[in-house]
Amino acid sequence: MEEKYQLIVIGAGPGGYEAAIRAAQLGIKTALVEENELGGTCLNRGCIPTKTLLHSSNLYYESNNFKELGLKIDGISYDLGRLYERKNEVVEKIQSGIGALLKANKIDVYYGRGVIEGPGKVKLFLKESEEVRLLEADNLLLATGSKPLVPNIPGIDLDYVMTSDDLLAGKKDFNKLIIVGGGVIGCEFATIFTQLGMEVEIVEAADRILPSLDKEISQSAAMNLKKKGAIIHTKSKLERIEKDEEHGRTLKLTVSAADKIKELTADAVLICIGRKANVDNLLSAGVTLECEKGWIKTDERFMTNISGIYAVGDVTGGIQLAHNASAQGITVAELIAGSEPTINRKSIPSCVYMNPEIASVGLTEEDAKKSEIDFVTGKYPMSGNCKTLLSMDERSYIKVIAEKESGKLLGAQIICARATDMIGEFSLAIANGLTAEEMHTAVRPHPTYEEGITEALADTLTGAIHLM
Ligand code: FAD
Repeated sequence: MEEKYQLIVIGAGPGGYEAAIRAAQLGIKTALVEENELGGTCLNRGCIPTKTLLHSSNLYYESNNFKELGLKIDGISYDLGRLYERKNEVVEKIQSGIGALLKANKIDVYYGRGVIEGPGKVKLFLKESEEVRLLEADNLLLATGSKPLVPNIPGIDLDYVMTSDDLLAGKKDFNKLIIVGGGVIGCEFATIFTQLGMEVEIVEAADRILPSLDKEISQSAAMNLKKKGAIIHTKSKLERIEKDEEHGRTLKLTVSAADKIKELTADAVLICIGRKANVDNLLSAGVTLECEKGWIKTDERFMTNISGIYAVGDVTGGIQLAHNASAQGITVAELIAGSEPTINRKSIPSCVYMNPEIASVGLTEEDAKKSEIDFVTGKYPMSGNCKTLLSMDERSYIKVIAEKESGKLLGAQIICARATDMIGEFSLAIANGLTAEEMHTAVRPHPTYEEGITEALADTLTGAIHLM
């Protein structure tokens, strides 16, 4: 392998490997450095493993409706070991696909730790040997991602006090799980395990789970989780964890709520209170990258304070989602190749893979109120949607927010089956400045969940058809 490149990418998550492929497609000589597995957090410890487990969990849960649906399966049960095995098989399959893509694009992949020596210089500590090499390039791209944030409280090192990485790696033999942190990751795990019939409690410091989402949507998500059996403690903060010596593996959690101290017990604890940038040992002494609250700071073109060193994805904070990391990585490759791509930041959707799913883009009603925009809201309860009814789906609706005078779409929130597949319509509309009326002119097929989009848009115009 040659060791002088036009671009060296550090980190083979969605931000890094997609940037490397795009750069190679554009004729840029590219190397990719990864210290763990291809695919990063998303493929190995994030999006794909959780959604594979969730898929089985959804099917199992929906079997509760089989009798009503006229289907008979005697004694349905599940094999958690097989669920995890299948998750690994899916991950391996996608990983080998990424490996093949990198090879086909003639990207030199180095397995080892990359350390920035200065502009254009990377010291490479190869994984399988003691060898250390110096790689050089005109440009460097840091896509080193993030890792779980772990609070410094007594008992945090006890066995079965886990991060999402530990849980997905296979620590799964528990019947009662306490999830500390009711954000997106916590709520997704709560959905997986409650639907499998396990006892789940969520401890959340804010006054509601999913506090960054539209208030009504987060209240509906809480109702859906409670219906599945989850117990939610809001305004509650974990203080310490102890091992209950009298009861084998049981863990005892002390939680402070507004006016009292609660004691909770479980046989496993999942800590998902947030994430932090992967920057440890990334820089040699003397190299300083400007950071904000621990995240690498970049300008509009994803350039750090050191010319020629770019950073994208989770390591830069902001919207920590795989599609955001990919879009940024591809943009950097195109910038290096000399074009002027743009990402419409307002059109980046956020998704919560619960059951039903949640997806959101642009402004919520609360955001619109705060920014003093004159707006109209359209809301369509999916109880009037044929596909929702025939599929026996749970409480769901679609909300759209449009500017009053121009009709321009400002935001949308969906809580319903396939919400994450539908939100792209609204991203497209926001990215292209479409109005609710322009979106409404599109004819959507019947019977589909998408008809709910037409109805929610109509609610901002002349009124929905299937709504009393
Ligand atoms: P990462 O995917 O974290 O990749 C960074 C890579 O860099 C890693 O492979 C790491 O080993 C490597 N690396 C770090 N330092 C070095 C170094 N010095 N040298 C060499 N290599 C290095 N997002 C979604 O959009 N949808 C979802 O459904 C979703 N679900 C999630 C579920 C969970 C449980 C978690 C934890 C996250 C989820 N996310 C989801 C978020 C998503 O995984 C991240 O936003 C995404 O992986 C970020 O991509 P990235 O390329 O910035 O970094």
